[in-house]
Amino acid sequence: MDKILQYLKENRDRFLQELCTYLEFESISAQPQHDKDVRRCAEWIAAHCKDLGMKAEIAPTKGHPVVIAQTPRTRSSKHKPHYIVYGHYDVQPPDPLELWNSPPFKPKIENNRIYARGVSDNKGQHFAHLKAVEAYLRTGTELPCNLTFIIEGEEEVGSKHLTDFLKTNQKRLACDGAVVSDSGMPSLNSPALTYGLRGVAAMEILLTGPNRDLHSGIYGGSVENPAAVLCRMLANLHRKNGKIAVTGFYDDVLPLSRKERSEIKKWPYREEAYRKSVGVPALFGESGYSPNEQRSARPTLEINGLTSGYQGEGSKTIVPSWASAKLTLRLVPDQKPKRILQAVKKQLKTLCPPTVKMKITEGHYGEAYLFPLDDPRTEAALQALKFGFGKDPILLREGGSIPIVNDFKKILGVDTLLLGLALPDDNLHSPNEKFDIRCFERGMKMSAFLWQKLAQN
Ligand SMILES: [Zn+2]
Repeated sequence: MDKILQYLKENRDRFLQELCTYLEFESISAQPQHDKDVRRCAEWIAAHCKDLGMKAEIAPTKGHPVVIAQTPRTRSSKHKPHYIVYGHYDVQPPDPLELWNSPPFKPKIENNRIYARGVSDNKGQHFAHLKAVEAYLRTGTELPCNLTFIIEGEEEVGSKHLTDFLKTNQKRLACDGAVVSDSGMPSLNSPALTYGLRGVAAMEILLTGPNRDLHSGIYGGSVENPAAVLCRMLANLHRKNGKIAVTGFYDDVLPLSRKERSEIKKWPYREEAYRKSVGVPALFGESGYSPNEQRSARPTLEINGLTSGYQGEGSKTIVPSWASAKLTLRLVPDQKPKRILQAVKKQLKTLCPPTVKMKITEGHYGEAYLFPLDDPRTEAALQALKFGFGKDPILLREGGSIPIVNDFKKILGVDTLLLGLALPDDNLHSPNEKFDIRCFERGMKMSAFLWQKLAQN
């Protein structure tokens, strides 16, 4: 490892310059006026991988292309494990521009941090893995694993074509596992292996009452108000103790093990600081669980939007014709999104009175994910984190979803190690996005060590 560590140290400044060049591309996948920038960005990173001695190509999709780069295969390659490293070169739009302290596509280095759109999400994170590979290749050190980088250009618009890409390239992407650095850790002193993600399921409810908005003075009292009905129904989906009042909702929930609960207790967390940070007078959640358990490892049902009646200035005396609500659920292993959507629908039907008509539309959904903690690679990843960051790592469950992880499981049949390098204040998707250079340096070290550890398993 010494040669590699020395190389990473000696070339650090050049790496940062290269990363800054990568960050100058306005690879905003959501905006068609930037299609050319997205393309140019893909070409730059593919060429960069080639320069490092990798076999790289730009694979077209129906949307923005995917860059695939393979480490050189040698005679001894046959006996090595094969891992996929996933990242994305597309970025979020930088708006609102006036809130940036420096231009989003002119990277600025200040106080050990790089400020630029996409630096933490996700260019800086996968660049750390690439530079670790460079250290192996340029020092003539044998890479213990075969690696294939998949760097896509549509993550910020839902990875629409990645599933197809994985299916058509299934054979050459056959591998032993995937590594993704596109999430976070609680602090520089708490590097983390994220082993759990929540799933999601979305739906929309529309209640229709009278055939038009009615005069409340003439009709009010004789016709039930759809807005009132909707509120009553929605209020009945939770109990006072924070449990979700849907029959069968918890049937498939995998309970938190004692070990998991003690791991969650190790997360850096102060309840009062957390309460203040979200600005609520008091916290609320499912009884029997801590806030960290509630927001990472327990299922939820949220009302995301409520619409009905008059919303303009002053008052308007009507009985609205309709009322609607958008709901999403965060799911945990082993809940099945389809089954949960059915259960909520059924509950709503029993709650709906005969005075209104109800229409329910299902939205997007995805399953939760859990990396098996008894897999020896858990230990390998924890050791690599400890080596890179010089601190004891923690085991993390995240409340959000990373759909690609389920695709790797379903299509390629492999599990994913989530080794996020972002810090909570990196301003992902917000103005003044930044990436801590120490996360970058320690991430490179962690990555270099990881391949050795994984090869021993
Ligand atoms: Zn993002």
